[in-house]
Amino acid sequence: MCIFCKIVAGEIPSNRVLENDEFIAFHDINPVAPVHILIIPKKHIENFQSVTPELMANMTSFIQDVAKELCLDKNGYRLVTNNGKDGGQEAPHLHFHLLGGAKLKWTHLTENDTHKSL
Ligand code: AMP
Repeated sequence: MCIFCKIVAGEIPSNRVLENDEFIAFHDINPVAPVHILIIPKKHIENFQSVTPELMANMTSFIQDVAKELCLDKNGYRLVTNNGKDGGQEAPHLHFHLLGGAKLKWTHLTENDTHKSL
């Protein structure tokens, strides 16, 4: 069972902020912003590349509800999903990072000049 499936099952504790039949939102254990929430489907889906549009429709509404619940909807937030090896995905279960609570920086993510190389 993957780490987030264990969180769904309650085998690993999580600090939950919102939950419904399909999704859970909980605080990231290693926050990189004042507010750093992970949002996952309860069903095991490997990553964004394998999610269906139907599940994403419900997930979009849930993420919007989480942002409202945490009062991030007025000042804004960043939503990130790391997909696969090059995307830096470590947990093999679809999750979105919801980041906010401060004005976030946007920096180069590789050593290279991203305009010149891909
Ligand atoms: P990613 O690199 O996109 O796969 O992100 C995985 C995230 O899961 C990281 O930000 C970790 O800090 C976070 N994480 C790992 N284990 C836990 C846990 N038990 N509870 C909360 N967050 C976790």
